[in-house]
Amino acid sequence: MEITMARYAGFCPGVRRAIRMAEEVLRDPGKPAFSVGPIIHNPQVVEELERKGLRVLPEDPAEWEEAGLAGSRVIIRSHGIPPLLTRRLMDLGAEPVDATCPTVKKAQKAAMRLVGEGYHLFIVGNREHPEVEAILGHVNRDAVVIKEIRELKEWWEGQTRMVRKVGLIAQTTVDLLTFRSLVEGLITEVPEMIREVSEMKLINTLCRNTLARQAEALQLALAHDLVVVVGGRNSSNTEFLRKICETAGARAVKVETAEELDLSEFKEVSRVAVVGGASTPRKRLEEVRRLLAGL
Ligand code: SF4
Repeated sequence: MEITMARYAGFCPGVRRAIRMAEEVLRDPGKPAFSVGPIIHNPQVVEELERKGLRVLPEDPAEWEEAGLAGSRVIIRSHGIPPLLTRRLMDLGAEPVDATCPTVKKAQKAAMRLVGEGYHLFIVGNREHPEVEAILGHVNRDAVVIKEIRELKEWWEGQTRMVRKVGLIAQTTVDLLTFRSLVEGLITEVPEMIREVSEMKLINTLCRNTLARQAEALQLALAHDLVVVVGGRNSSNTEFLRKICETAGARAVKVETAEELDLSEFKEVSRVAVVGGASTPRKRLEEVRRLLAGL
């Protein structure tokens, strides 16, 4: 079996930075260390940090009081958090350590700029994703999150305000195909809306590292029978990679670790590619490669 490893493997710069900052915080034994939710979307890495002393706060801030945050340091993960929650941490006596990825920060700033300039803001992405939640928090939730054209149409039908200026950004890890189809859809699928709009401003908030991973995954999918996508089950960028591989016509198998592979799926396969999400350590991909090489 021919096995190709993705060149864009291992942590992306934003995740590497967040882990480095967490490790620095953990080196100071004098202060308890927390993170707001899992620091990255990879349970194995989160467990490793927990073993070193990092405690994961629940997503619900109503439960933070019980954690005893006074005098602690709290790492804000690469996805960022709404400013209200940063203030809540400080009110509870914690020192926030901001590990928000600089690319995510740019998306937050783009959202604030567009809303500040009077644009009706659309965010292409997943409304349940913490990054989108954080962006919404930076604009007092004055934005519409869309993942499918259907949602845009539904929003328009319920709309009573005149829409003259439309601003558009994306969750940093959205795949290019989804983004393109939503941008096109905004112009072509809701003609009543575009008749009303006089100005449309798009700020490119897509992450370069993610785009490079997606482009490589697409190329690998076109040249291989099967692609193993390694990453956290709750990792949005990993799921986008799987979707891209399937769109390219390849079979895609998504796993968190090599042990999850069903080896019977590889019986008739001669060319396999191994790709990984932004929060997947390179060693996880290597483990998959070693296992497959032994078949
Ligand atoms: S995927 Fe991109 S935006 Fe997300 S943390 Fe990594 S570098 Fe930052």
